[in-house]
Amino acid sequence: KKRNPGESEFLQATREIFDSLRPVFIKNPHYIEDGILERITEPDRIITFRVTWEDDQGKVHVNRGYRVQFNSELGPYKGGIRFHPSVNLSIMKFLAFEQIFKNSLTGQPIGAGKGGSDFDPKDKSEREIMRFIQSFMTEMQKYLGPDLDVPAGDIGVGRREVGYMAGQYNRIRGGFQPGVFTGKDPNYGGSLGRREATGYGTVYFTQEMLKTNGMSFEGKKVIVSGSGNVSTYAMEKAIELGATVIACSDSSGYIYDENGINVETIKRIKEIENNRIKVYRKYHSTAKFVEGCHDIWSIPCDIALPCATQNELDEKAAALLIRNGVKAIAEGANMPCTQEAIDLFLENEILFAPAKAANAGGVAVSAMEMSQNSMRLNWTFEEVEEKLQLVMKDIYENCLQAAEEYGHPGNLIVGANIAGFLKVANSMVSHGIR
Ligand code: NDP
Repeated sequence: KKRNPGESEFLQATREIFDSLRPVFIKNPHYIEDGILERITEPDRIITFRVTWEDDQGKVHVNRGYRVQFNSELGPYKGGIRFHPSVNLSIMKFLAFEQIFKNSLTGQPIGAGKGGSDFDPKDKSEREIMRFIQSFMTEMQKYLGPDLDVPAGDIGVGRREVGYMAGQYNRIRGGFQPGVFTGKDPNYGGSLGRREATGYGTVYFTQEMLKTNGMSFEGKKVIVSGSGNVSTYAMEKAIELGATVIACSDSSGYIYDENGINVETIKRIKEIENNRIKVYRKYHSTAKFVEGCHDIWSIPCDIALPCATQNELDEKAAALLIRNGVKAIAEGANMPCTQEAIDLFLENEILFAPAKAANAGGVAVSAMEMSQNSMRLNWTFEEVEEKLQLVMKDIYENCLQAAEEYGHPGNLIVGANIAGFLKVANSMVSHGIR
């Protein structure tokens, strides 16, 4: 706390990990002697920089850019870029810290990082976004490379933005450089299935968790918060597996339709029209729109998939979900549930899938994109999806096994933290004290 004053999100994320790791340190005190905890919570380096850009009216703006290169024990730094006005150092550090354990869980050779800016793309023209990104990347490119640091998208950063980043990187580095970004357009080296991977992966993970407990998505009512990249494809896969998605949201409010949300309409509104969720009613008059996104959790459902942002589901929302008979929660977003909400779910024995395991499908397919770029090969959508499904199943089984081995059977939070930690910690031990 003293070392990281005011970094509430980062402290929240580290506290959660430390609590789970207690049984590991009791069994293996040498991790303490090697200073693993102190070392794993201090980033390799943090880069912050000024991003100056000019809007369509010729007015000059200054934003702040970040790249937190947290840990490179298992491979190149890997993690998304977020553009959102709420971005600050604490949020960047918490996301990069979580990424260490998540990336380790995927079993792929990737380290951990995260970056972004407090730039708000929402009210900007396409040209303004491009100019901002060109300025952002002019500084950031110094620290990136296919074997050094490979960013991807996150909130506010999709295929288009990754395209502008790659374009500026190539321009400065003097030609096409494959493998420096993931989440690219498949036309120039992006992996098929990357866009779908986080949402699909979250649902595959949930499916495994439900299966162990004698349930499935078939006939279940599902709520998915958000309507961005993760949410859209979580909805698509849940529907494909027989569920009815009855509500989704954006930061302005939520839509609700007992007969089911049409995911194609969501794609049209968000990916083509770039519009607010409210306009869904224009296409489906049976749906209701409610202003404000927090009350989405007051709707009775069987499965809740928070896929929007951190701390979006608090204790009050958790209590409502439990009272309304929720059976399972899976975190598609990073740290969407507050600690108090999680405690309540666990006390009430609700199945709970933590973000670093449940949403690891995105980064797992990003690592597959890196492999395809290195091999100069493109896998089919089906090949990628099959691999993704296997990765999610493996992550689930590893979490379950670690939870069992360390005395918390069925607790996937403890399992994910321990399984993710052990691989990185052992690598740190092998690399010596540094
Ligand atoms: P997008 O920008 O595509 O979508 C984010 C969605 O969440 C939008 O509907 C947005 O609404 C909503 N949202 C954002 N901030 C808030 C807020 N403060 N309150 C309410 N709603 C909000 O982002 P992604 O789908 O890519 O990311 C969502 C989450 O998933 C993040 O936590 C991200 O870190 C995590 N994640 C993403 C991965 C990926 O592959 N993209 C991989 C792993 C994790 P609005 O448009 O109104 O802002």
